[in-house]
This record gives sequence, C-alpha cells and structure tokens, in this order.
Amino acid sequence: MSAQPLSVHELADQCGLALLYHGTFASPPAVLGKALHNVAPETLFRHLEALSRSYRFVSVDEYCQASNRKGLATVTVDDGYQCVPDEAFRVFEALQIPLAIFINGAFMKGTLFWRDQVRVIMERGRSQAFETRFGKALQRDPGQSFYRYTKDPRNSSIRVCEMLDAFLEDEAPIEGCTGFYTQQTQELIAHPLVCYGSHSLHHYVLSSLNEDEQWREIDENRRFLETLPHVQKTSVFSIPFGGDRDYNDATVRLAAEAGHSAMLLSRGEVQGGSVHLDGRLPMIDRVMPRDVKVAELILDLQARFNPSGH
Ligand SMILES: [Zn+2]
Repeated sequence: MSAQPLSVHELADQCGLALLYHGTFASPPAVLGKALHNVAPETLFRHLEALSRSYRFVSVDEYCQASNRKGLATVTVDDGYQCVPDEAFRVFEALQIPLAIFINGAFMKGTLFWRDQVRVIMERGRSQAFETRFGKALQRDPGQSFYRYTKDPRNSSIRVCEMLDAFLEDEAPIEGCTGFYTQQTQELIAHPLVCYGSHSLHHYVLSSLNEDEQWREIDENRRFLETLPHVQKTSVFSIPFGGDRDYNDATVRLAAEAGHSAMLLSRGEVQGGSVHLDGRLPMIDRVMPRDVKVAELILDLQARFNPSGH
C-alpha cells in the first residue's frame, strides 16, 4: 500500500486546508504568459479527489467560522476568470465540493486586469521600455523585477495603473484578452455549489493606498455584489495579493466596518487547526497548489504546514 494517502490523513489530523486557485484553463492563453497561476481542470480534479479522502470540504463561511479547522478544507478562486465556470464547474459538480469565487467589480466594465497588463508587457519583452519611461517615478530595490516592483506597497497601485494605461496607449493593442473574466462575458452564474465574495474593486495593493482610497475599494465592491441578488454570497473578504505587506491595520478595520466576517490571506501557509480570535476578524491563510501531480502537491502541503500558525 502506498504511504501517500496516509500522509494526507496525518495532515488532516493536524490542520485545516484553504486552497487558492486562479486560472483553470485546460490550455492557458499565450497572451497571459507563464506568470499566470493556472491549474488545468484535470489536475484540479485529481487534487480535490485525493484530498477529499481525508478532508471534509466545506463552504468558505463554515471554514472561516469553525472553532477548530482540523480535517476541514475549503476551495477559493480569486480574480473571476471565465475559465472557472466554463472549464472547472464540472469538477466541483463531479465531486460535490463547494467553492467561493472572489471577484473585482471594476473588471465588469471590460477593463483588463492591470496585473494582466503587466503580464502582457513582460510577454512582449517591453518591461525595459516601461522602466525607461516611468522607472524614476517608482520605488524599486536593486534587482527587483518589473513584475514585483509594480505591486510593491511603496508604489501606489492607482499611480502604477495610470502609468500602465499611458504606456499601453502607445503600444500595439492587446488582442485576445477580452472574455477572460466572468463579468465581461455574462452575468455571474447562480450555482448551488458556488458563492461569490469580494476581492476589492480594482485589485490594488490596499496598503499602497490611503484610508479613503482603501474604503472606496472595499465599500464599492461590497455594494456592487449587493446588486447581484440572484447568486449566493459570502461576507468573507479576500485581500488582493494576500501577503503580509499587502494590507495594514486600516484594511482590517475598514473591512470589518463594511460588514466583512473574515479575511483571506495567501501567504502559502497550512495553518494549525485551533483558532484564537481575540475579537478580531479571523485571518485565514491559503495555499496555491501548482499544476503538479498529487504526490508533489502533498509533499508541498507538508512542507508548508506550520503547527503554531492559526
Ligand atoms: Zn487576486
């Protein structure tokens, strides 16, 4: 008998598991390049099927509110790529696993996600040209890549987006990028296994903004979700980028004021099961599985397990 299923059982005995996916293209569009976090539907099925032998998959609300998350798992998908309903809903249907999709209302207007603008500029080999034009106006560590410094909290995401728009205005038009997002092509799909939550209005680095700007990002997206009465919703908030430097105390306070019930991070840590809330919003860490075989996923999860994390 293989030792691999036992490993998952051991993990489930000690910790909860919040998974984070983005793209679920069987074949990701070349224009987005390799920087897109993508897991093909077949891999997704194998991951979830293997984990569901040891974990009980629950909704994101049940997971975040649980007093002990040992043996519980939840699936979240950020950014609202259209490939998720098109290509991945059938995976969740086959396994009867719930999922939560965290969306950004601004993409509803047909705007290309600014991180995809960054990916396109990289794919075209134009990051140096961007740097020549705007580099002086941006904070940057020596050797810090274009991909990284454009999302560095020292640089206001609002300013960065103005620069990206100005730069791309003079470049060849970006073809084939429409229709990547659920909101651009059709209404959000009501589905008994799916709920929708907020990932902020524009997916800016919230800690790069002042409080008024942060409030607008949080509150306007919450209001936007309220205009979609036909779908199930979650009050959990998914922090854009989700690292320790991507939000601050004001973010947590404003999210609580806006009525959010928990905050999702994406630092890549598998957290211990017990929870100490101290009256604050639960801060839930997530891991991003890569498009790898199940055995490799499990090794990765074990390496990321932090028993003292909660
Ligand atoms: Zn995101």
